[in-house]
Amino acid sequence: EEVKSLNFIEHIIEEDLEKGYSKEELRFRFPPEPNGYLHIGHASSICLNFGLGEKYNAPVNLRFDDTNPAKEEKEYVEAIKRDVEWLGYEWESERYASDYFQQLYDWAVELIKNGKAYVDSQTSEEIAKQKGTPTEPGTASPYRDRPVEENLRLFEAMKNGDFKEGEHVLRAKIDMASTNMLMRDPVMYRVLHKAHHRTNTDWCIYPLYDWTHGESDYIEQVSHSLCTLEFLPHRELYDWFLDQLVSEDRLRPKQREFARRNLSHTVVSKRKLLQLVEGGHVSGWDDPRMPTISGLRRRGYTPESIRNFTDTIGIAKRENVVDVSLLEFHIREHLNKIAPRVMAVLNPLKLVITNYGEGKEEWLDAENNPEDESAGSRKVPFSRELYIEQEDFREEANRKFFRLKLGGEVRLKNGYIIKAESCTKDEAGNILEVQCTYDPKSKSGSGTEESLRKVKGTLHWVSIPHAIEAEVRLYDRLFNDPTPDSHKDKDFMEFVNPDSLTKLTGYLEPSLKNAQIGDRFQFQRLGYFNVDLDSTKDNLVFNRTVTLRDTWAK
Ligand code: ATP
Ligand code: MG
Ligand code: MG
Repeated sequence: EEVKSLNFIEHIIEEDLEKGYSKEELRFRFPPEPNGYLHIGHASSICLNFGLGEKYNAPVNLRFDDTNPAKEEKEYVEAIKRDVEWLGYEWESERYASDYFQQLYDWAVELIKNGKAYVDSQTSEEIAKQKGTPTEPGTASPYRDRPVEENLRLFEAMKNGDFKEGEHVLRAKIDMASTNMLMRDPVMYRVLHKAHHRTNTDWCIYPLYDWTHGESDYIEQVSHSLCTLEFLPHRELYDWFLDQLVSEDRLRPKQREFARRNLSHTVVSKRKLLQLVEGGHVSGWDDPRMPTISGLRRRGYTPESIRNFTDTIGIAKRENVVDVSLLEFHIREHLNKIAPRVMAVLNPLKLVITNYGEGKEEWLDAENNPEDESAGSRKVPFSRELYIEQEDFREEANRKFFRLKLGGEVRLKNGYIIKAESCTKDEAGNILEVQCTYDPKSKSGSGTEESLRKVKGTLHWVSIPHAIEAEVRLYDRLFNDPTPDSHKDKDFMEFVNPDSLTKLTGYLEPSLKNAQIGDRFQFQRLGYFNVDLDSTKDNLVFNRTVTLRDTWAK
């Protein structure tokens, strides 16, 4: 078995196990906010948390961090569940921070009673002004020393809906001089008269992230709460809140941080991805150009390829940008093993085999996957009139052009050796048709001397009378810049690539007639393709998942 070195999170866990944690105490969670669809960055967090669950045979909860009704929706909850399942993971329990609203409220009341929280009646601007700067202490709110009874009364009135948004907030009473700005009496609750996708109008005060996350971890008895690096300064507050609540007989969760993963030529932020959706730059969250899990799925990515990708990049303590070509490498590698080979022509040029009988047809044997013997073979029709790719023919070319040129020979994949004799052109010089002859004894696999003859090039093709038409969608990078959201003076939207989608009509071998949505193929010499969601029986639509080789100019 492959021996893998431990990553730094696993080291932390191993140390904890040595220090006396029992394996049974280990518990993890993946905590998305349902304010958008999951993206490839989330895949790293999913694979980390669920991977730890698998490694230590520990439960992993799926916890929706749903404390902001203004941005959250049930549609997102459903999409997130679908994506985590599709990646191949099973959660122990489906949880919602909103399930804990009452408990959080009760604990907040306790904090007030202990003199650890107070109602502030200033505007958010005033509160912000008093925060001070990292080098200068903040100023205490005039309401900081409000009597406990008054705080309790006001907080209850906040909950009962007696106030408008912004009139009062509940703040933790910590330290206005702390060098950690987050410790300067952070807001715990605000009034928000918005219906929540689960609690509806039961609540009109909503807890903030810091006052929710660690407490939810505590309720669920999560041992290691793993989050991204931007939460490092929040750890002190995470711990402070727990200090106020944790009882000795219950496990105390710890927050640990790892680096966010970024992918080149795209953005991994739900907020920014939402802008692309709302601005109509893509057809939706699952547009095949999107770095969302659902977009990648629709594009033809497999769960295995995404898991292998996140495994390869591992986890880190420092942020960096992973080149998208690494993601493409992984899908190519997987599809090479599993995708049946077929022939399709995307930019057709008509080719007539003048010495092949008119109206004659034959069905040639074609191997489905040279990487997988069990994949078997199929029949492809051959006839006098074929399509090849325009770029596979030139009237004249030098010796390095291993395709078809006048007077030259190539093999037609699974078929015969042909020789280009002449071509017809329109007035502008565009080639309309190529006339060829074929060598009847050269049929692939026939065992004749001629069939074994080596010619330099092999071309894919389809028989014109048998071809089926399909819409084929080719994708380019969604952004023209490797790091669109890293420019100080430019908005990432300025880098949207206006030509990221090309639609054309392809001509496919007839075996593809019954291809089903999601089916994956290699169109020989063109790339890997899958059947898009928009596809119907009479109107097949294919996406190019990825080209065969890394053709992206760096
Ligand atoms: P976004 O800005 O896209 O909304 P987020 O961190 O606010 O990202 P959450 O729904 O809160 O999104 O994320 C759930 C979990 O996934 C969190 O633990 C978060 O830290 C992690 N996560 C989010 N983005 C990335 C990323 N790019 N790389 C690694 N982990 C991520
Ligand atoms: Mg978040
Ligand atoms: Mg967010």
